[in-house]
Amino acid sequence: MVNTDAPSEQLTPTTEIPPIVAKLRATFASGHTKPIEWRRAQLRGLRRMLTEERAVFEQALKEDLGKSSAEAHTTELGFVVGEIDHMLKNLKSWLRPRRVSVPMALAPAKARTIREPLGTVLIISPWNYPINLSLAPLIGAIAAGNSALIKPSELSPATSAALAELIPRYLDRDAIAVVEGGVPESTALLEEHFDHIFYTGNSTVARIVMSAAVEHLTPVTLELGGKSPVVVEPGVNLATTARRLAWGKFTNAGQTCVAPDYVLAIGDTAQALQRELAAAITEMFGEDPAKSADYGRIVNERHFDRLTELLDSGTVVTGGRYTRDQLYIEPTVLGDVGPEAAVMAEEIFGPILPVIGVPDLDAAISFINERDKPLALYAFTESDSTKRRLTTETSSGGLAFGLPIAHLAVPDLPFGGVGESGMGAYHAAASIDTFSHTKSILDKSLAMDTMRVAYAPIGEFKEKILRKML
Ligand code: NAD
Repeated sequence: MVNTDAPSEQLTPTTEIPPIVAKLRATFASGHTKPIEWRRAQLRGLRRMLTEERAVFEQALKEDLGKSSAEAHTTELGFVVGEIDHMLKNLKSWLRPRRVSVPMALAPAKARTIREPLGTVLIISPWNYPINLSLAPLIGAIAAGNSALIKPSELSPATSAALAELIPRYLDRDAIAVVEGGVPESTALLEEHFDHIFYTGNSTVARIVMSAAVEHLTPVTLELGGKSPVVVEPGVNLATTARRLAWGKFTNAGQTCVAPDYVLAIGDTAQALQRELAAAITEMFGEDPAKSADYGRIVNERHFDRLTELLDSGTVVTGGRYTRDQLYIEPTVLGDVGPEAAVMAEEIFGPILPVIGVPDLDAAISFINERDKPLALYAFTESDSTKRRLTTETSSGGLAFGLPIAHLAVPDLPFGGVGESGMGAYHAAASIDTFSHTKSILDKSLAMDTMRVAYAPIGEFKEKILRKML
């Protein structure tokens, strides 16, 4: 398996992009995507695609990322099916109009909010979870009644091709389209008028997306990344901590937006934790993880080269071996890493875990707050006071105690970043919020004109009443 940076040959010609978008806009304008029956039918079609074509998707994920079928299920196919089921179960209640009370001065009248689809939505997705991160947003877009266009990443070409081939077979072609390609195709797409852009990827491209959105005042959701820290306090069960950290870090070979990026080990825990991490890695992937069926590969040579250069940032405690033609990098733990080391400069996004010693919780909190707001913050602690302090004294997209990456799998927790790690959120009801406009409606009967008191001429008497009412 060698996946180079070369883009897929199945690109969508850029000249085809304007008519594709025009068709999606016309479909939305016709009202076709609004009935709840249409939305349900599409969600069921998506579910059918994922179950009937499971083997095709698993093979594509194997080709693109060396993903095992178990990992393909838990983090991509099964995950998305779970999201669909949860959406189908709750859709009606999440779309229900909400009544609100009306102030005395306007009574009698009724007021409510309704969910209105935005229109045509653009979803630009990355390569690391290429099915999950294309289809989980699509679930929200469909559920809210929009037409949608997905642009999968050119760096996971097998999955991109599978989505482009299968989505039109299972979903309404007039309302849902896939455009394949890289920068030229994304650039052409961003010139079109969309009613929402949902971008997942790095923060440099996010800035390009947001600048393009300015033209049509298009709202954006930006699902980005960053360095997600882990705080480990003395006195916790380090064996369990290490196993959970190794699981969260080395899933998909560390190429996970919410992967633990680095560990801040408080007090004297660093060395014992490093030993436990080494043991956990061997327990999970064997003496030679290159032979493990459960361990993935790096997406391409550019990322491979970037990552292997980071191995010099500290002392290799365990791991450190790599094979370029297999795009294999061993699960690696680094010790003796200074805050200025290269591995601490940017999101690692690979199987390298630096462990940094800090004297106390104050130092850990300062370390976190001196840097960009992360997508996730993790802590292993038994102390309620530590949990309280981390909750109130730091800011991050999500916060999890005792278990990394899994907050994503709690369907009703909105998922999104803050500051440099993104804006907006999705999953379950949060997806309905993201892909809808909440329209406020006031309905006052004409039968009786109770508004006379507000009409000019006002005079002393009316003013007295108005002052009492408002
Ligand atoms: P990527 O290179 O696949 O890029 C993402 C998308 O942006 C692709 O579809 C790509 O074609 C498009 N793109 C690239 N250049 C573009 C340009 N100039 N104009 C318009 N579109 C362009 O993926 P990536 O950015 O390397 O993804 C990794 C990053 O994404 C990491 O920072 C990771 O943390 C983050 N991420 C975040 C989440 C999340 O849910 N918050 C999930 C996964 C990844």
